[in-house]
Amino acid sequence: MSGPPLTVACLGTGIMGGPMARNIAREGLTVRAWNRTLDKARPLEQDGATVVGRPEDAVDGADVALTMLADGDATLEVAEAMLPALGPDGVWLQAGTVGLEAIERCAELAQRHGAAFVDAPVLGTLKPAQDGTLIVLASGPDEAVGRCSPVFRAIGQRTLRLGPAGQGTRLKLAVNAWIMAQNQGTAEVVALARGLGLESSQIIEAIDGGPMDSGYFRMKSKLMDDGEYPASFSLRLAAKDARLIEAAAEAAGADLPLVRATAARLAAGVEAGNGEEDMAATYKLSAPERER
Ligand code: NAP
Repeated sequence: MSGPPLTVACLGTGIMGGPMARNIAREGLTVRAWNRTLDKARPLEQDGATVVGRPEDAVDGADVALTMLADGDATLEVAEAMLPALGPDGVWLQAGTVGLEAIERCAELAQRHGAAFVDAPVLGTLKPAQDGTLIVLASGPDEAVGRCSPVFRAIGQRTLRLGPAGQGTRLKLAVNAWIMAQNQGTAEVVALARGLGLESSQIIEAIDGGPMDSGYFRMKSKLMDDGEYPASFSLRLAAKDARLIEAAAEAAGADLPLVRATAARLAAGVEAGNGEEDMAATYKLSAPERER
């Protein structure tokens, strides 16, 4: 890296934002971290980050303002607060999953404040975030994307450069439709198998090494077998993503009944009180009656 290390404001230190900020700090970049619930950001001080009480304090003089927040509303609210404090050379690097409508509003907001805007959602969950092996779906002006490169290197194993801002969000929604299908599919296959007196291990043995084998099935069916769902990706946010995919499908003129059914099912999971568990807890609504 040439020149002094970047100063990165990390706004949102949840399941994903926390480990991302930690890796950015460990890479030698200067990190100023903020989280609505401040205590969740405090552990980052051990990695050399400075924890501050307001988003605008984090971005003042920063090169990059990284938002990794729950949804579009939270992102826009925090951006309204911080953008006036981001200097003329600062880049707003938006990494959360906010959907088509919100990403457009983010781009407009950035433009109003004269800030360069990079739309760069990520693929990968808690473990890849901790390991710094996310896949970054970067889109936005070349120069601004280039300025974020040290951040991308710290958090990810690979960065795709996808063209104008908004393209990252489009690809993220398409890939997440696949994730949603696999998660819901795994839940229903496990529920059916167990109802029929079979075990997930028998399914895994049957698909082992073939084209239907799936690391995702193995990972999520283990949570369903154990009946414990520590969140790598909360069911609440999965329900949010399913709604965003549903809206994107409508905008795209595509008819996706599986997405609609999954969105309704995840919403029911939130309603049932499973929102803070991993998305694999969607299994609970499908489990054979004797397990419920
Ligand atoms: P999380 O652990 O629930 O963190 C959400 C963050 O948003 C927290 O910092 C939370 O602050 C903050 N927040 C929520 N509402 C807010 C508001 N109104 N104002 C200010 N801050 C607010 O979620 P996560 O799993 O890290 O996900 C973050 C984003 O990345 C989401 O868009 C998600 O869809 C996306 N994503 C997640 C994964 C995954 O596997 N987990 C993978 C890729 C992308 P508090 O701590 O105060 O609640």
